[in-house]
Amino acid sequence: MMSNYCSRSSRCKSSPVPSGRCGAVRHEYPFADELLTSWHARQRHSRRGRGLPAPKAVRDRMGDWRHPDIRPTMAWINATADDLNVSAARLVEHSLAKHYPALPPDFLAWEHLPGSASSTGLIPIPRLHVSWCSRCLAEDFASDRPAHVRRQWVLAAVGFCHRHRWPLEDRCNGCGSRTWRFAMPARGPLRMICEACWQPMERTSAPALYAGKDTRVRWDHIIAFEQQCMGAIRGRTPDQFRFNFTSAGQLLNEVRDVCSLLTKKPPNDEYWWCRTRNIALNDFACDAMTPGYIGLQFYSSDTRNPLATASPLLRRCLLAAACGIIETNPDVGAALFGPEAPPAIERFIARTDRGGLDRLLMADGHWSSAFILQIKAARERMARRFMISKLEAAHRAIRNAFAHSSSNEQTKFNRSTGQI
Ligand SMILES: [Zn+2]
Ligand SMILES: [Zn+2]
Repeated sequence: MMSNYCSRSSRCKSSPVPSGRCGAVRHEYPFADELLTSWHARQRHSRRGRGLPAPKAVRDRMGDWRHPDIRPTMAWINATADDLNVSAARLVEHSLAKHYPALPPDFLAWEHLPGSASSTGLIPIPRLHVSWCSRCLAEDFASDRPAHVRRQWVLAAVGFCHRHRWPLEDRCNGCGSRTWRFAMPARGPLRMICEACWQPMERTSAPALYAGKDTRVRWDHIIAFEQQCMGAIRGRTPDQFRFNFTSAGQLLNEVRDVCSLLTKKPPNDEYWWCRTRNIALNDFACDAMTPGYIGLQFYSSDTRNPLATASPLLRRCLLAAACGIIETNPDVGAALFGPEAPPAIERFIARTDRGGLDRLLMADGHWSSAFILQIKAARERMARRFMISKLEAAHRAIRNAFAHSSSNEQTKFNRSTGQI
């Protein structure tokens, strides 16, 4: 049985301290919403790295990747529990697999996806892409709590902190660097600081700070959509008033496929050998999703789920477009992209590869019947409008031809009668 006291301190053995501090070594558990690697990094920091190697993903006997945050190996859990004198069973409770048993790997945010080859042909070790909420970090600092990375910040279908309704960031607001580390200031708790300019990461971006009411309303629409996606990741059936006859798996399929179609290069694009900005996503401009950037354009991607490797900016834009397209309420699309913009689902149909869309529509049970009907109804509306515009054009052409011929007849008659 695991001892409750620190094995490294005789003082602890003789007089346990209920708070978990023995005087020589501090043995504490992760926070309720903390990533295991964040907790481990904090422990390494308090020991200045002595005897605690940084955890990384490893392959198991079957050749599958085991990431310490997602599904850690029991060997790592036992060794860490022993080193830090905590309960192994309690550490397992903090893994992502425990909280999201049905989590598809492509709904996590990755620096390097498992199994993806780099430009050199080598397969890098899978690493999660960590974003953060500057307001959560500021709250940690204000309440004298060590800064820590929350589980929600590594989910690919999340671009906002749902607690503060605030956009997540993955770069320093001072210098734009993406590298950070934990550091203990002279006074106060542990903080996340930029490795390039040493600024604390709780400094929020000014454009987000001065966001107006309209922008915040748009954020709220995407947060509501993200909450439905997070529920689906947990296996919960989506809200049937918003997503009729849609199962959790179908909602995730729809989000994944819509994002993939939005970022796919057009089949006849002349720049077929490189990435292009000629993608459907760039037609769904919503500056509220990219505070501080106006008219931001993104490059094409060939990944199955572009959310998995997207920055928080791209993630929010993808989720905004997917929300406008999948959501049955047209008011959401109008609120996101403006009342004058054509319906999002029609822009999506007009701009994406027809063959690719048809293949997905025919896959049995892959998308919900309600979403398929929405697409079919939108196609019929578009075909009807196209036919009406063609008939109107033909009617105009005939009218112009008659007008032209009657004016010619009149001129001929005037010439023959000698009138001017
Ligand atoms: Zn927050
Ligand atoms: Zn910096």
